[in-house]
Amino acid sequence: MVSDLRELAEVIGRCERPLLTGHIMPDGDCIGSVLALALMLEGQGKSVRAVSPDPVPQIYRFLPAIERVSVGVPPAGFEPDSFIMLDCSDPERVGPDLAVYLDKPGVTAINIDHHVSTRPFAHYNYIDPGASAVGEIIYDLSFELGAPITYEVAASLYTAIFTDTGSFRYDSTTSGTHRRVARLIELGVSPSEVNTAVYEERSLESIRLLHATLGSVERTPSGLVAWASLTIDQEAAVGATGEDGEGLINYVRMIKGVEVAALFRETEPSVFKVSLRSKRFVDVSALAQEFGGGGHPRAAGCTISGALNEVTEAVIRVAERRLAEDSDGRSA
Ligand code: 5GP
Ligand code: MN
Repeated sequence: MVSDLRELAEVIGRCERPLLTGHIMPDGDCIGSVLALALMLEGQGKSVRAVSPDPVPQIYRFLPAIERVSVGVPPAGFEPDSFIMLDCSDPERVGPDLAVYLDKPGVTAINIDHHVSTRPFAHYNYIDPGASAVGEIIYDLSFELGAPITYEVAASLYTAIFTDTGSFRYDSTTSGTHRRVARLIELGVSPSEVNTAVYEERSLESIRLLHATLGSVERTPSGLVAWASLTIDQEAAVGATGEDGEGLINYVRMIKGVEVAALFRETEPSVFKVSLRSKRFVDVSALAQEFGGGGHPRAAGCTISGALNEVTEAVIRVAERRLAEDSDGRSA
């Protein structure tokens, strides 16, 4: 484990040809953090490639310099000496095509993350669950690296932090978050422009998907657990793509009385990507880990195979047990 940012900066300082990546089904934090760090290291004269295992969602394509993040694997002929993962809570998060770099001879694997569930699976691991977003870590790292925060870097870091804190609404938001973000605004970032690009320019398909999601909402008799589901057929009927599902889970959590919210999205026949959220005290990261996933105490996920009703029942059963356990100590 790398315990401080100075050591992390030293490790990264030794990299000459870093390959940077975020996780599959990328979100604003991994895209913004990858782009910001790529620009910083490029500015220091390194030969950098930044890739995303899945396409960059449309809502993040407004970011200046986003074309620096390519999709899939690095261009042929590029031989990285280091593989820097951002926001990856387990090695599978980089996807099957990039996983080869995790133990490729001559390649130093570095993971920079903020999930509580993350184990040290790389050669160097900097994991700070106290950071609201990986973007916060990269902001702090810039000072240790001696890399200036240009406008492009600031816009990427702001977007990372803005999206991962739920627009500065979640518990993870601290006074330190606001201090860092204040500096990013001073550097020229417009909060309203970022908000409009990310949240006010939804595709019509995503609104139709929201309609289908809301139509499927159910809750347990106690009202503490609520869930919604989307099958492949429903998604196909509205012409939705994976990224059109961003934020749908929030509507399930916002129901009065709900503590645990789940969204089951069928990604392949009888394979469900499960998004989990809690409102006040249930540790959904622990819940997700029971199904091989992970995440944060209030936002986590996993993938489960089976018939929809079986998958739903299994998750609800564990959610109800965790509700009973976590409410005892209100420890999470
Ligand atoms: P989302 O529900 O938005 O996809 O993910 C919520 C959080 O849980 C994110 O921080 C994400 O990184 C994490 N997460 C989602 N799915 C998985 C998974 O399958 N495995 C792990 N380890 N983390 C996940
Ligand atoms: Mn993420």
